[in-house]
Amino acid sequence: MRFDGARFKEFPLANLEGVPNRVVRALLLDRRGQLWLGMDRGPVVCIAPKSTKVFSRGLPDARAVCMVDDGQGDVWITYGDGGLTRIQPDGQIKVFGAADGWTAEEDPIKVEHAVGALMSRRDWTIVSHEVIFHGRRVCHARKPACGACTLAADCPSYGTGPTDLVEAAALVKGPSRTRLLGMVGIADEDAPAPAGGEGRDAP
Ligand code: SF4
Repeated sequence: MRFDGARFKEFPLANLEGVPNRVVRALLLDRRGQLWLGMDRGPVVCIAPKSTKVFSRGLPDARAVCMVDDGQGDVWITYGDGGLTRIQPDGQIKVFGAADGWTAEEDPIKVEHAVGALMSRRDWTIVSHEVIFHGRRVCHARKPACGACTLAADCPSYGTGPTDLVEAAALVKGPSRTRLLGMVGIADEDAPAPAGGEGRDAP
């Protein structure tokens, strides 16, 4: 049902092919003005001004609880069972699970060994520094800057913090702020005038 300020108009979802029920679990109006409906147990409907698409193949048979879009036009869907799915603008669907992280291990010793095996020994120090920097500059524990994060496209926790570019950019801290914002296509309006190069990160 849509209300334009004066009257209601009904959109009969029952007529859509591939949508077995009319129960909408999540709603999103994306940055392009498209309305996304997360239907109960599976299908996702995208209603654009001149067309309607139904996504069903490859989506989990689970209850959608939340949908957000990002700066790349991807739509992210979370599910009641903890799952996460991404629909790209070209219609490609990716379902994320524990295997998409560095490891599914939970014991700290096993995690250390599993992550260490993912890279060569000579990279262990720099990778651990980069992870620390990322946590201090961008992925803050209380409010991560998801909308200004270079890992957003691959992060299953995207959306934990603000996805709005301006709001997220304000959260990015540290001497590498200008470079980090530049990597996601944001100009740093607070950048100081160039004076012999950017400061060097320190742990
Ligand atoms: S997208 Fe992921 S890694 Fe980036 S800030 Fe958000 S939670 Fe952290």
